Amino acid sequence: MREIRLHDTRSGHVVPLKPRDPGRVGIYACGPTVYSRIHIGNARPYVVFSLLKRFLQHEGLQTTLVANVTDVNDKIYDAAHEQGISSGELACRMIGHYTADTDALGLGRPDHEPLASQTMGAIVAYINDLIDSGHAYASGGDVFFRVRSDPAYGSLSHRRIDDMDQGEGVEGSERKEDPLDFALWKGRKEGEDSWWDPASFLTDVPEKPVWAPGRPGWHIECSAMAESLLGVGFDIHGGGSDLVFPHHENEAAQTRCARGHELAKIWMHNGMIQLTGEKMAKSAGNIAPLHEVVERWGRDAVVMYLIGGHYRQPLAFSPSELDDAERRVYRIRDALRRLRAGELSPAEMTLHKEAFFDALADDFNTPKALACLFEWVRDANRRAEEGDEAGDGDLREMLGVVGLGDLDALGADDARASDPEAYELAQERERARQERDFDRADALREQIRARGWEVRDGPDGPDLIALVAER
Ligand SMILES: [Zn+2]
Repeated sequence: MREIRLHDTRSGHVVPLKPRDPGRVGIYACGPTVYSRIHIGNARPYVVFSLLKRFLQHEGLQTTLVANVTDVNDKIYDAAHEQGISSGELACRMIGHYTADTDALGLGRPDHEPLASQTMGAIVAYINDLIDSGHAYASGGDVFFRVRSDPAYGSLSHRRIDDMDQGEGVEGSERKEDPLDFALWKGRKEGEDSWWDPASFLTDVPEKPVWAPGRPGWHIECSAMAESLLGVGFDIHGGGSDLVFPHHENEAAQTRCARGHELAKIWMHNGMIQLTGEKMAKSAGNIAPLHEVVERWGRDAVVMYLIGGHYRQPLAFSPSELDDAERRVYRIRDALRRLRAGELSPAEMTLHKEAFFDALADDFNTPKALACLFEWVRDANRRAEEGDEAGDGDLREMLGVVGLGDLDALGADDARASDPEAYELAQERERARQERDFDRADALREQIRARGWEVRDGPDGPDLIALVAER
C-alpha cells in the first residue's frame, strides 16, 4: 500500500497520514454559511474533500466525510433582515439551493452534513464545559473564550498573539476581559427572530446558567459538530485557507481547552479561487454562482477545472480556464471512443496509472496526476494510430477517483457539434487532399490546429482530435 502524505498547516510540513483508528479515516470539512447561493469558490473545498475521500477509499481506507452547514450565523440574520424574512426561512431556502447546486457536481453527498441548529445541545454543553474549566466567562448575557488561557493559542495559524484580530469589531467589546477574546455565545438582541435558551439544554446542572437565551458563535458550532460525529483527535480537518484564522485557530483552542486533546491530527487548507487577482469573497457580489458555471460549461468541465490546479495553490477563474477544462474533458471522451470497454491496458501504460496514484498520495497532487492520465491517453492514441487497441479499464479507474468516471465516449457527430467550423475545414482539407492540392491541405491543417484540433486521417475519413495545452 502507498504511503499517503498530506500538508499539515499546523506543522507546516507534508506529513504521513497515520489514521487514529487503523484502516479508517475521518475528515471534517467546513461547509458554507447559508445566506446566499454558493459560488465556484465554495465548490472548491466540496470537490477537494469529496475527491480526497474517493482516493483514500481507493487505497483501501474506510473514510467518513463530514461537511457541516452553518445555518446559525450573523450573516444569515443580517441577510434575512434585509430581505424581510425570518433567518430560519432564509437558511432553509439556501440549504435547498446548496444541496441542489452541489448535487449537480455529481460527486454524491458527504456522509454527514450536520446543521448547527440541530446540534444545539452539544454546543451548549461545550460552552458550559469551557466555563467550568475557566477557559470561558459569561458577561452581560454573552459568553467569551479567554484566549490567553490557552498557552498553545496561535499554534495553527502561526500568528503572534499581539497581531491577532478576531474580526468581531466593536461588537461586545465592552463586555470582553481582553480584546483578543472571542464570542462563544451571543445573547439575543432586539429584533432577532430565532434563539435558544441554554437552560433548556443544561437540565442537570444545579444552578441556572448565567448566560442569556441567544445563539452560538460560529467557531464553537464546528468544534461541537466535529466532535459529535468524529470524536476528538480525528484525522483530517479541512477548509479554505481563509478559515485558518480566526475560525480554525479558535476551533482548535476550544477543543484543546475543553478536552485536553487536539481536535484533528492534520489541518488541510485549500487555496482560494481568484478573479482578476482578487480572492473571490462573497462580499465581491454574486460572482460566478456555481449553478451558472455548471449550466454554462457542464459538471465534467467544472470538476476538471477544479482539479487542474494543486489544491493548496490559488486557482484563477476565467471563461478561458473553463474552456480549457472543457477541451481536456473532450480529449478524454475522444480517447474513450477508441478504447475497448472493460479491458486493462498493456503493462507500459499501466506505469502511467501507478504514477497517477502516486501523485495523489503525494499531498493530493491532482495536476501531476492529470499529467500522468494524459500521458496514458497519448499512449492509447498512439497505439490506436498503429492499429493496436487498448482497453479502457485503467483509464476508467483513474477517472473514477477524480469524479469523472461517468464520461461517455464521443459519438460520431460530437466533434461536428462541438466546433462545426473546424469540422467544415476538415472536410475542405479532405477535398484538397483528394485533388492532390497538398499545400492547401497543409494550410488547412494549420488552421484547424489553431482552433485546437488535430486532424487525423482515418479509414472513415478525417477525424478531429482535441488538442490540449499540457501544463
Ligand atoms: Zn468550521
